[in-house]
Amino acid sequence: MGIIGRPGRSIKARFPVAGVTGGSVIEPQEAPEVVEVESEVVACDGGGGPLGHPKVFLNMQGKGWIDCPYCDRRFILKVGAAAAGH
Ligand SMILES: [Zn+2]
Repeated sequence: MGIIGRPGRSIKARFPVAGVTGGSVIEPQEAPEVVEVESEVVACDGGGGPLGHPKVFLNMQGKGWIDCPYCDRRFILKVGAAAAGH
């Protein structure tokens, strides 16, 4: 009895120490998935799962790469692969 609760020590704002390096640098780039294929015509269904989409066939038509309009995957023709067969 008789002890009055003290409000505690004066509140000190704990500022973060300047100069601390976090170590992890988050780069704001989100490169789409790149898939190397050996054929100019590829089929993509998004890989199935929640990110899947109806299966579509994509033709690079000599460009050497094609982006899937559904999932933005980029398919590139593997270096050394025959572009148009023989
Ligand atoms: Zn796709």
